Amino acid sequence: MPVTTVTTIAELRDRLDAARAAEQRVGFVPTMGFLHEGHASLMRAARAETDVVVTSIFVNPLQFAPHEDLDAYPRDLAGDAALAEDNGVDLLFVPSGGEMYPGRMRTSVSVGEVAAPLEGHSRPTHFDGVATVVTKLFAIVGPCRAYFGEKDFQQLAVVRTMVRDLSIPVEVVGCPTVREADGLAMSSRNAYLTPEQRAASPVVHRALRTGVAAIEAGATDPAEVRAAMAALIDAEPLAELDYAEVVDAATLAVPDPLEGTLRLLVAARFGAARLIDNVGASVGATAEAASTEGSST
Ligand code: AMP
Repeated sequence: MPVTTVTTIAELRDRLDAARAAEQRVGFVPTMGFLHEGHASLMRAARAETDVVVTSIFVNPLQFAPHEDLDAYPRDLAGDAALAEDNGVDLLFVPSGGEMYPGRMRTSVSVGEVAAPLEGHSRPTHFDGVATVVTKLFAIVGPCRAYFGEKDFQQLAVVRTMVRDLSIPVEVVGCPTVREADGLAMSSRNAYLTPEQRAASPVVHRALRTGVAAIEAGATDPAEVRAAMAALIDAEPLAELDYAEVVDAATLAVPDPLEGTLRLLVAARFGAARLIDNVGASVGATAEAASTEGSST
């Protein structure tokens, strides 16, 4: 089936209301475009589990700080439409900035402590922008299953929290991170990497694996795990560490000593590209389950 591009909120609502009235389940994959295999995996999950799949492409100005890469963010609408069609998307929602924000935005959604550390610390206005646009997209799409990547682990936690707190009628589905063969997590921002930076970039995943290995070897001091990850990034001249952290996977607080289901997260700059990645691990009763998850993500 060819993908249909929709640019207005009214038309998308009409089509999805009609689908639900005909007992069809709606699957939703929100993106910022420049689509890759990571996005495609979300589309395929939606295609397998729902009847009408809608993908949005909107580079949301609210989630970029003034000094960030809003204007430089890569775009390729023709390529995106082809990838969406190949992966079973029915509707591509591509609103203009004016369609989404016709006037000054007065309302903002703020999610609290889960949004505060890590990305929230490095990018203080980022998650308010994400939560606000995702709330708006959920209001436009309506009741659905919405697919998000674990690649943006804190974003997934923010969205889950917001949906629960606000009783939004959306079922949030988290999907595993898709990687290049050398471990680099796929990202639209990988397009910013020079060949030398690209060659160095798998160090992020290696650092995460090193952190998991330290935990599997018995480390329960978060500082030790942080230091093990940071040492790898610091040893790579093309990388500049932003953070390397190990947190409780549900609360994103740092348990000391480490206990339960954990998430290890790294953010590092390679020139113009700021890369983030994460993997799972665990200490204690749930260790087996989380180490399986850690090795597959
Ligand atoms: P973005 O276009 O970067 O805003 O991402 C849109 C959605 O795709 C988010 O839910 C991301 O977490 C997800 N995503 C991005 N990269 C990957 C990846 N490598 N694997 C799985 N999901 C991803």
